[in-house]
Amino acid sequence: MAIVTPQTLRQDFPLLVHHPELVYLNSAATSQKPQAVIEAVSRYYRELNASVHRGAYTLSAQASEAYEQARRTLARFIGAEEREIIFVRNTTEALNLVAYAWGLRNLQPGDEILLTEMEHHANLVPWHLVCERTGARIKAIPLGDDGRLELEHLGTLLTERVRLVSVMHVSNVLGTVNPVAQIAQAARAVGALVLVDGAQSAPHMPVDVRALGADFYAFSGHKMLGPTGIGVLWGRYEVLETLAPFLGGGSMIREVYVDRSTYAQPPQRFEAGTPAVAEAVGLAAAVEYLERLGMANVWQHELELAAYALARLDEELPEVRTFGPRGQDRSGVIPFVLGSIHAHDVATALDQYGIAVRAGHHCAQPLHRKLGVAATVRASFYVYTTREDVDRFIEALKKVRDFFKDWL
Ligand code: PMP
Repeated sequence: MAIVTPQTLRQDFPLLVHHPELVYLNSAATSQKPQAVIEAVSRYYRELNASVHRGAYTLSAQASEAYEQARRTLARFIGAEEREIIFVRNTTEALNLVAYAWGLRNLQPGDEILLTEMEHHANLVPWHLVCERTGARIKAIPLGDDGRLELEHLGTLLTERVRLVSVMHVSNVLGTVNPVAQIAQAARAVGALVLVDGAQSAPHMPVDVRALGADFYAFSGHKMLGPTGIGVLWGRYEVLETLAPFLGGGSMIREVYVDRSTYAQPPQRFEAGTPAVAEAVGLAAAVEYLERLGMANVWQHELELAAYALARLDEELPEVRTFGPRGQDRSGVIPFVLGSIHAHDVATALDQYGIAVRAGHHCAQPLHRKLGVAATVRASFYVYTTREDVDRFIEALKKVRDFFKDWL
């Protein structure tokens, strides 16, 4: 199915209907939700709500089935097996889960973790914490001036000391699509595991975790039309089976004594306590919505919007400096600075025209250090973003430029 023209598609999003003048360009931070998702969550609470995996009564069985059906939907979405889908709160929790459940148990002094200079703090700080406790070290694939990773360094960086390569699939700042399959292949050749931060890829492009050749893939529901408080860690089953629990409590055990316990098989081993059932059901509805649009269409739509926005910025706003690669390996994320005006001032000024963009370091301080700027403004697109949104953004940015012209 071709992507519905976003003008009509906007009608599916109550918030966008409620704010007809809003140009929402911060979907890389969090997306808006279609009626189908809001309704799925609401229906769950109206008709199905009960404790899952515990009650002997019919309603509990139905709630459990809704939760497990959501797991099947998520598995289908990324080409995984159902038993490989672990529901977590978000990408941050998924990455921490691997750092603690795998890293704490397996890393030793002298071991290395290979990251990249463009990572989100969610894929840096958990490794700092775990390295402090294990004595392992962190290295990073450098970022080149064109906004792409310098993969020519991979050969020297990937020694047999590297136990894990953890890389973002798509940059939340630059939009760069990293060649994850190629990196994974090189990593596996030295026996390293591969973790992919899919926070900015799962919402925007077709993803097949097996084709990526990774061992883990993490993403958040709220960035892909789903509710907050729900995300996924996918792991290859053979690897998940070797992992120690992360959080302990109900639902993740086999047998418990006062002084010891044994643990359930994955994925239950990693889902301690009452899960976010309504949120999982809502996320499955989001996935079904995206599947109806077709992920290839979603990606194409964003490529076109990004190319259109960049061309207009280049042509009409020479005072604006954009970052990130130019080409088909770039998602609908446009980071920029306007002369030497602080990013927050630009974003606040844009807000006067109803344009919602984010300003700051976008949880990527090492990347901004490398770019040589303290902060950037970021416009990011999604399924409901129209060309008219981009036009209004550019016209507003021209007014902001005119306002600041004496300070540029
Ligand atoms: N990784 C990337 C690439 C992201 O863009 C984000 C969200 N900005 C995260 C991780 C963290 O996601 P969450 O806040 O949903 O845990």
